[in-house]
Amino acid sequence: MSVSSSQSSQQNIHGQCLCGKVKIKAAEVTLHAGACHCHYCRKWSGGPLFTLDAGTVVKLDGSCFVSSFNSSDWAERGFCNNCGTHLFYRLKQTGQYFVPVGLFDQLKDVVLDHQIFIEQKPDWYSLANQTTELTGSEVFALFAAE
Ligand SMILES: [Zn+2]
Ligand SMILES: [Zn+2]
Repeated sequence: MSVSSSQSSQQNIHGQCLCGKVKIKAAEVTLHAGACHCHYCRKWSGGPLFTLDAGTVVKLDGSCFVSSFNSSDWAERGFCNNCGTHLFYRLKQTGQYFVPVGLFDQLKDVVLDHQIFIEQKPDWYSLANQTTELTGSEVFALFAAE
C-alpha cells in the first residue's frame, strides 16, 4: 500500500534483529514511514508500530530463527525466535513486507508521513508529526483499490 505522493526510496537496505541471528536485506524500501495504531500492533509492539514498505523482494538470513504468527486472514507477523525482535508484517495475498524502521541502521531521510487505524489510537499519546491520517476502513479501501 502506498499513501505517499512522492516515491523516494533507498535500495539494497540491510538490517538485523537485536541478537544478530536474523539479517534482513530489502531490494528497495520507501523512506515514507507509517505508524499503525491498531489494537494488534499495539499489543504486538507495546505501542504504535512504525514500519517502512519494503516491497516483495526481501531476503531473510538465519531462517531457522524466523518464526511467524498468523495474525489475521490477510497477514502474518514475523519475529526472531531467539531475541523476540519484530521482523515484518507481511500481506499474504501480495507478499508485501512492512518492516519495522528500527531494524535498519543505515537509513537516511526517513519521513513519517502517514498514520493508520487512527481511530484506534488511545488518548494517552499522540504524535506531533504532521502526517496523513487514515482510519482502518480507509486503509482497507486503499488495499481493495490496488
Ligand atoms: Zn534475534
Ligand atoms: Zn496495526
